[in-house]
Amino acid sequence: MDFDDTPEEADFRAGVRKTLEEHAGELLHAGAGEDVVDARTHEAEMRRTQRVLHEAGLIGITWPREYGGQGGTLVQQAIVQQELARAGVPPLVNHIGLGMCGPTVIAHGSDEQRSRYLPRLLRADDVWCQLFSEPASGSDLAALRTTAVRDGDDWVVNGQKVWTTLAHVADFGILLTRTDPEKPKHAGLTMFVVDVHAPGVTVRPLRQMVGSAGFNEVFFDDVRIPDAERLGEPGEGWRVALTTLMNERVAIGGAGSDLGLPVETLAAHARERLPRLDPERQVLARQAVGRAVVAALATRYTGYRRFTVLSQGGLPGPEASAGKLAGTAAAKLVADAGVRLLGDDAVYAATADGDDTWQRTQGYVPGLAIAGGTDQVLRNILGERVLGLPPEPRLDKDPGGRR
Ligand SMILES: Cc1cc2nc3c(=O)[nH]c(=O)nc-3n(C[C@H](O)[C@H](O)[C@H](O)COP(=O)(O)OP(=O)(O)OC[C@H]3O[C@@H](n4cnc5c(N)ncnc54)[C@H](O)[C@@H]3O)c2cc1C
Repeated sequence: MDFDDTPEEADFRAGVRKTLEEHAGELLHAGAGEDVVDARTHEAEMRRTQRVLHEAGLIGITWPREYGGQGGTLVQQAIVQQELARAGVPPLVNHIGLGMCGPTVIAHGSDEQRSRYLPRLLRADDVWCQLFSEPASGSDLAALRTTAVRDGDDWVVNGQKVWTTLAHVADFGILLTRTDPEKPKHAGLTMFVVDVHAPGVTVRPLRQMVGSAGFNEVFFDDVRIPDAERLGEPGEGWRVALTTLMNERVAIGGAGSDLGLPVETLAAHARERLPRLDPERQVLARQAVGRAVVAALATRYTGYRRFTVLSQGGLPGPEASAGKLAGTAAAKLVADAGVRLLGDDAVYAATADGDDTWQRTQGYVPGLAIAGGTDQVLRNILGERVLGLPPEPRLDKDPGGRR
């Protein structure tokens, strides 16, 4: 098996690496967390980082040139993601918009919507969020209850979403609603672009155990959305949502990129911290690092198979679920080993140099086992669609998405 880049891919990678080195001083780097500076300053720096990367030609790699993208390939996109992680650039402020909302607007939006929204999304002038999950519908997404009722040229929306990443800083979102309660659950849905600052939208941040609030409850009280902001036909919302979910699988399932912190970061951390631990803790930490490195590298090399699929112009299928499952497990082992290496320093909010990256990552990674399809649901997908096992008993037939 050959894990090396093709000559064209190697050229492209070298160009990306050079560009990142040239702009290193203008980019936010992992470790400069929200607690170090205030949240607004952090948000502004995150937006600036994406803008700098966009001007350097590293954002929207696969998006059409006419809307500010680079017109490149999925494999180039994967290379840019790998190089951003290698350079220590944290996830982009608009990662939901770039990974999921934008591709949905490209596939189902009108020309007017594409021209209005996509260039601003790429520059991080507008941040986007994905308004799908509700208190009683996550894995069973099509059971959602937020309603949109037609009223003249508008639709009037009422209901509640939850776990909406970035809604507290977002300007727009893609919103999945029920427009026909009489139809079977997948058939009565419609998707819209919603202005998160519109009257009647209330965003309530949810504080997580890492201390900051990354996601939110979002309430809709008689929110008016013009019909021109519909994505796809009325009743076609499930089909539109499948575009979003397929892109989510590519964005999270990835291709050879580590979920959580890269294993090289753990290795460097181990070299520095191991000698400082007492002998008994050294043994335990060494074993933890060993387990994490094996898991992370096994996941990475298996991920290169998906990279090959992308290279050949394909899209990862249900087998990408295995990548997310293994990647999540490896990310947990890497984070746990990183915290173990801190010894007693781990109990403080931040180590002496003010960096609490390991503790924050350890608090964050369990969420990966839930976001974008839970571990249990992914195992169902693998059992049914990859191994051909009999399907789990269901009262209704769910043709795709998170199941
Ligand atoms: C970090 C993070 C970010 C998120 N960001 C967003 C976002 O931006 N936008 C958004 O819309 N949503 C977001 N979510 C929500 C996420 O999509 C849901 O949490 C997820 O789909 C699970 O839904 P749920 O929380 O309702 O759990 P449930 O679906 O109620 O599941 C509860 C438990 O039951 C299990 N379960 C459910 N169905 C089955 C089944 N058929 N077989 C076996 N076990 C099953 C699950 O695995 C889980 O353990 C985010 C979640 C997290 C953790």
